[in-house]
Amino acid sequence: MMQVAVNGYGTIGKRVADAVARQHDMDVLGVAKTRPNFEAETAIEKGFPLYAAVEEREELFAEAGLEIAGPVEDLVADADVVVDATPSGIGAENKALYEDHDTPALYQGGEDADVADVSFNARSNYEDATGADHVRVVSCNTTGLSRIIAPLREAYGVEKVRATLVRRGGDPGQTSRGPINDILPNPVTIPSHHGPDVETIFPDLDIDTLGMKVPATLMHMHSLNVTLEAEVDAADVRDLFADESRLFLIPERMSIDGSGKLKEYALDAGRPRGDLWENCIWAESVSTVGRDLYLFQGIHQESDVVPENVDAIRAVLGEADAEESMATTDETLGIGL
Ligand code: NAD
Repeated sequence: MMQVAVNGYGTIGKRVADAVARQHDMDVLGVAKTRPNFEAETAIEKGFPLYAAVEEREELFAEAGLEIAGPVEDLVADADVVVDATPSGIGAENKALYEDHDTPALYQGGEDADVADVSFNARSNYEDATGADHVRVVSCNTTGLSRIIAPLREAYGVEKVRATLVRRGGDPGQTSRGPINDILPNPVTIPSHHGPDVETIFPDLDIDTLGMKVPATLMHMHSLNVTLEAEVDAADVRDLFADESRLFLIPERMSIDGSGKLKEYALDAGRPRGDLWENCIWAESVSTVGRDLYLFQGIHQESDVVPENVDAIRAVLGEADAEESMATTDETLGIGL
């Protein structure tokens, strides 16, 4: 069994811990937090040993009546791999800790690409992470774009990608984020940083991206234009996407008109936390004009990177190839709508 540590137990970390706990070949060795809160209490209720991420704050947990298994250093020392899900920039600060204990580490998309030897998306470049010591699972947006680009490149060739990312202002729990009543070009400079991030997965890809932020918390929305190397029928592209387990083609008959109903559907379907691990592509939006493909997709920022973290664990430890790992992750989590 692969012994997995999760350092940083917030939006991403708690979801990764739950997903790891569902794998037959992995154990959650423990999770590390900086302070006691509702998530710390839930971790203990779930049976995850809780470690103190900051030694000086250990007594805060005792005061809150929460039992600590030890300092994060002990967790990292005993783990086969650590998933760092701390806020952007803290992962890079933690790198020395992982190196000191010779424990391979996964970082999240908020870190700069140079924190790791490899940027990772399971569908696109799983093998590059085999045996690597430091791997960055790319951001929610880059994951969503990579999952679409990989099959298109293989089937038809991709000449150019143009994507406009309408981004949620913050996650539902992030009360300090915004905008509350505005529409921001964000970043205002064009192209945005998202394109270069996708190029960490596909170094030879021609891609330009534009970003906005809006007063929404549920999901991101991508408007995508891909110039292919061949003329293709929209129906063929839909068939191509239908074969990809992590792409959900929203059928017209479902009358899902936006991210609100998508999340409602996920909750009705019994998804934990209403998570949507798949890209959610409106089937009717998939259109072609000559070699140009257009579509809209919703990306659930809180969860689409979760299966990717599970696969990255197997890749780093050399425990399965891409196909095996993705199939196992999909089956254990229930991916594929
Ligand atoms: P978050 O703030 O919800 O969770 C981070 C957790 O780490 C918090 O519980 C925080 O208290 C804890 N923490 C802070 N400093 C720490 C330290 N030194 N050691 C251990 N824990 C520490 O953040 P998040 O949204 O889960 O983001 C984590 C990473 O995932 C970031 O790189 C982010 O860019 C990336 N990411 C976030 C999203 C998203 O939409 N939330 C999507 C994809 C990737």
